[in-house]
Amino acid sequence: MSDYQETLYQGYGQRFQMDRLLHEVRTDHQHLVIFENARMGRVMALDGVIQTTESDEFIYHEMLTHVPILAHGSARRVLIIGGGDGGMLREVAKHRGVESITMVEIDGTVVEMCKQFLPNHSRGAFDDPRLNLVIDDGMRFVSTTQERFDVIISDSTDPIGPGEVLFSENFYQACRRCLNDGGILVTQNGTPFMQLGEVRTTAERMNGLFPDWHFYQAAVPTYIGGAMAFAWGACDSSYRKLPIDTLRQRYAGSGIITRYYNPEIHQGAFALPQYVLQAIGKPSND
Ligand code: SAM
Repeated sequence: MSDYQETLYQGYGQRFQMDRLLHEVRTDHQHLVIFENARMGRVMALDGVIQTTESDEFIYHEMLTHVPILAHGSARRVLIIGGGDGGMLREVAKHRGVESITMVEIDGTVVEMCKQFLPNHSRGAFDDPRLNLVIDDGMRFVSTTQERFDVIISDSTDPIGPGEVLFSENFYQACRRCLNDGGILVTQNGTPFMQLGEVRTTAERMNGLFPDWHFYQAAVPTYIGGAMAFAWGACDSSYRKLPIDTLRQRYAGSGIITRYYNPEIHQGAFALPQYVLQAIGKPSND
């Protein structure tokens, strides 16, 4: 039995016992491995970084979809950048009001291998008739598309390799261009305790670009180093401060069953700790 050692951080990291290696390949863009671990289920890593595990993916995917979509209230067109494992697509597809889902994933091999070896992530969502799957660089797509979206979800790898461009000023500007009035952009933005510089940089790039920007958090066990931050960029500041009764009505009305998300978690997730507020230059969570 060999081990899988994550290499995201020098001198610190998590180790998984590889109970069964399911697939390993160097794609045109990155090194992909999918293996089984008795405790965490099936695990996928890209370029030495844990991307998703069957045991805790629900936390991440529920928080990056239901928070922006329920805050928006009438999202019809959703864009997912990255998300090759299909978990984000599965959660977006649960929203009956969503009419169109465009997913732009740079690496077609990730989609094919996750369909085959991580079927519990997509659970058939790749067959949803609302899906328009585009195999391309997300940066190129948002820079050139004439389409507009109500919610954009950047479900990318970390800002190394192909994912780096998805944390650039150009990317945020292009996403802002692609949003309808009232649109919302959310992105995975790393764990502030370990990657505070990434949160600071995103804050600098969103400031002045979005009328309302902030971050929200959720602890995803296999994104090590504490709670993960999700960047929030909105054209309307009221969407981040909806009354709890509004969130409760929308959540109940959606008919969606969740394992992590609920309206109180939604509201509380935007309360950032002092060290993160200081890093992003905000005096408070307002
Ligand atoms: N949950 C993970 C995380 O938080 O790190 C992300 C999972 S998902 C597998 C990340 C996806 O982003 C991968 O499938 C990768 O191929 C894709 N990706 C990386 N760079 C990209 C780019 N420039 N355009 C589109 N997709 C990209």
